[in-house]
Amino acid sequence: MGSVVDQLEQPAVAITVTVLALGLAALAFYSFWRSYKARKVRDTMLARERQLRSQFDAVLSSARDGVLIITQADEIALMSDVAASILDVNRADAVGLPIARLNLRAVDDQLRPILLREAFGIGRTDENPRIVGVPGRRGADDVRWIQVRARVVPDSLDEGPVTVVTMMDTSGLREAAEALNRSDAQFRKAMENAPVGMALVDLEWRLMEVNRAFAEMMGSTVSALRGTPFSALSHPQDLHAERDQLQRLYDGHSNRFSVEKRYVRADGNVVWAVLDVGLVRYAGGAPDHYVVQVRDSTDDRMHSELMAHRAMHDPLTGLANRTLLQDVLQNVLEQPDAEARVGVIAVDLDGFKGLNDRFGHAMGDNALVHVAGILRTAAAGRGTVARIGGDEFVIVVQDPDCSKALFEIAGAIHQGLKRPVQVKRHQITLHASVGIAMADEETTSGGAPSLLSAADAAMYRAKSTGKSRTEVYEPSMRTTTDAQSALAQDLVAAIEARQLVLHYQPILELATRTIVGYEALVRWQHPTRGLLLPSAFLPLIEDKNLSVALGTALVDQAAEFLAHGPSTTTWVSLNVSADQLGDSEFADRVLSAIGRYHLSPQRLVVELTEASLVAPNTRIRHELTELRNAGVPILLDDFGTGVSPLSYLRDLPVSGVKLDMSFVAGIPEDPAGARVSRALGALARELGLATIAEGIETEAQAEFLANCGWRYGQGWLFGVAQPAGAVGESRPQFTTSLIDPRPQEHDAAFAEDRLG
Ligand code: C2E
Ligand code: CA
Ligand code: CA
Repeated sequence: MGSVVDQLEQPAVAITVTVLALGLAALAFYSFWRSYKARKVRDTMLARERQLRSQFDAVLSSARDGVLIITQADEIALMSDVAASILDVNRADAVGLPIARLNLRAVDDQLRPILLREAFGIGRTDENPRIVGVPGRRGADDVRWIQVRARVVPDSLDEGPVTVVTMMDTSGLREAAEALNRSDAQFRKAMENAPVGMALVDLEWRLMEVNRAFAEMMGSTVSALRGTPFSALSHPQDLHAERDQLQRLYDGHSNRFSVEKRYVRADGNVVWAVLDVGLVRYAGGAPDHYVVQVRDSTDDRMHSELMAHRAMHDPLTGLANRTLLQDVLQNVLEQPDAEARVGVIAVDLDGFKGLNDRFGHAMGDNALVHVAGILRTAAAGRGTVARIGGDEFVIVVQDPDCSKALFEIAGAIHQGLKRPVQVKRHQITLHASVGIAMADEETTSGGAPSLLSAADAAMYRAKSTGKSRTEVYEPSMRTTTDAQSALAQDLVAAIEARQLVLHYQPILELATRTIVGYEALVRWQHPTRGLLLPSAFLPLIEDKNLSVALGTALVDQAAEFLAHGPSTTTWVSLNVSADQLGDSEFADRVLSAIGRYHLSPQRLVVELTEASLVAPNTRIRHELTELRNAGVPILLDDFGTGVSPLSYLRDLPVSGVKLDMSFVAGIPEDPAGARVSRALGALARELGLATIAEGIETEAQAEFLANCGWRYGQGWLFGVAQPAGAVGESRPQFTTSLIDPRPQEHDAAFAEDRLG
C-alpha cells in the first residue's frame, strides 16, 4: 500500500479523493433523485394506464365482439375477456404468448386445419369477415363457428404495426340459418305433397312456385305454371276478386284473407277455389312474397248452388217455385219501362183434381210434368215459368212486344195441351184455364202480388166462363176473385157455426109416386149473402181437412134428419166427394152415426161419382167396401157421364145408379137422350142395380123414364130441396097423397136390386 501512496503527493491525493468522494456522493444523490423522480412519473403513468386500461377493458367486455391484438412479433399483446371466452382459453396465460403457442386448433369453413396466424389473419386487413371453426364445447367433433376480421394498425410506440382482430361467435346465427334452410326444405317438401293446392306468389302476383295439388286443380303442370301470372288462370268475371284485399294485406292493414273465386282450368272447365292468402315479409318488414293456399270448393259450391236451386224450384217439375217467381217478378217490375214489357200468365188445369182422384197421385204427377214441358215450350225463353201450387202455374213474361208475346204463349199452351198425355192405359187430354194480365199502373199498384192476383182473376173468369180458354184481366174481375177468397176464409167458421145445412129433395118411386127417400144437398145459409148453392162454395174447398170437416158435420145432420124426420122408413142419400174418403174416418163416422141414432144402415145412402169409385186408391176402395159390407148402399151419381167401360160397374161396390140429368133434359124430344136413357136403364137393371133418374122437370120425362124401366125419379116436378124442418111440415101435394103405404118395401127394393 505504502508504495502507492508514495507514488502520489499526499495533499493532492487527499483533495482528489475528497472531490471524488463528493462527486460520487453527488452522483449517488443525483441518481437517487433521478430514480425517485422517474418512479414518481412512472407511478403516475401506471395509475393513468390502469385507469385507461379498466376503461378499455370495460369497453372491450361490454362489446359483443372479442378483440385480440397481435404484435409484429406475433405475440399476443391483448386479449379481451369476450375473445378469451369465444376462443375458450385463459386470458392471463395467453397474453404475452406467441400466437403459435396458443393452445387452440382452428379449421377453415371446409373443416380443414389451419394455422392460427392464418386463422386470425395476422398482418393483413380483411375486406369481409371470414368464418373460422374452433373446438366446440359439446364434444370432440363439435365446431363453433366464429366470424373473424383482421386489421393492421400502425403502432404508436414505434414498435411496428400490430394486427387488431375482432371476432364474433356465429354458431347461433349459423344454426338459425341452417334451421331456416332445413325448414325451408321441409316446407318445400310439405308443400309439394300437400293435398291442398299451394303457391308462392311474388309481389307482382306471379306464381313463383306451386305444388302438384295446385297444378292438378288447374289442370296443368308445376313447371308450366311457374312464372305464370296468377290472374291469367282466373275466370274473367272474378278477375279482380282478390285485388282490394291483396292491397290491404300489402299495406299491412290485415294479416291474411280468404276469397272464393273461379278459375278456368287448362281444359276450359271452371273450378271454384277458396284462396287463403298470407304475406311473408323480410325481417325489416318489407313485403317479400305471398303464400297462397288454394282449396277446390267446386263440390261445396255445387252443393250450395243445388240447395239454393232446391229452395227456389219445384222438385217435381224443376220449374221456379212461388218464392223465386215473386223475386223474379219484383225484379222485372223494378226495371225501367216495365209497364210495356212485363206481363203475367196464370194457368190452372181444368178438372185436375178428378184426374188425381181417379188415377192416383203418381199419375197426377206425371201429368204435371207433362204440362210443365208444354209451358216451357210455349214460353220459349220469353219469361220465367213457375209452379206455385198443385195444378197452378204462372209465367212471368218479359218481352219488348209483351202483349203479342202473352197471346202467343197462351195460344201455344192450349195448342200444346191438345197432345194427350198417356196415363196408364188411357190417353187423357188436359185442359187449362188461362188468365193474362199486363203490367200497368193499376195492376202493379201493389207491386208483384197485385199483378199476380190480376192474372189470377182473369184465370178465374176463364174457368167460370167455360174453362179451357183464355181471359185478359180487366179491373171489374177483381171484385169477383176478392169476394171468392173472402168466402173461402169464411167457410171454416161457417162449418163450425153450422151455417152449412142440408136441404132435402124427395126421391119417388115413379110408378106409385111415393116418396121413398131424399137426396141431401148442402146449402150455405150465409149471414149476409143469403142462401148459397154448392157451386158457389164447394169449389173453394181446396183444403182436404176442410172437406173432411164438412163431410163429418153433414153425416150427423143427415142421421139426425133420419131419426127425427117425417118418416121412419125413407132413406137419405148423401153426396160424398173423393177427398172426403181415404182415411177411414168417413166410414167410421157414417157407421157411428147409424149406431148412435139407431138407424137401419140401409137408410143412409152414399152418392159418389165415378171418379172416386174407380180410384185405384186402395184406401178409398177399402172404405167403400167397409160401408157396403155394413149394409150402407152406395149409389153411382151422374151415371152415364163417366169414362170407364160400363162393365166396370159389375166389380164396383155399388147398389144403384143415378142417371145424369143431361140425358133427362132432352127427353122426349131429343132422340139421343131418350135412346141413351133407355139403354142405360136396361144395363143397370141387368146388373141388378137400383135405378134413379134425376132432374125430372116434366110429366113427360117422368112417364118416359118409368116406361124405360127407371124405377125411381127425382126433380123439380116432384119437389125442390127443402130445409129439414120444411120437409116434415109441408109435404108437397103429390107426395102427401102418394106417401108410401108399405114402408118395408123400399128397403126391400134396394135388397131386390142389388144388396142380396
Ligand atoms: P148432384 O149430386 O148431381 O145434385 C143434383 C143437383 O141437381 C142439385 O144441385 C139439385 O138441386 C139439382 N136439381 C134437382 N132437381 C133438379 C131439376 O129438376 N132440374 C135441374 N136443372 N136441377 C135439379 P145442387 O144442390 O146445386 O148441387 C150441385 C152439386 O153439388 C150436386 O150435384 C153435388 O155434386 C154437389 N153437392 C151437393 N150437396 C153436396 C154435399 O152435401 N156434399 C158434397 N160432397 N157434394 C154436394
Ligand atoms: Ca147427387
Ligand atoms: Ca147427379
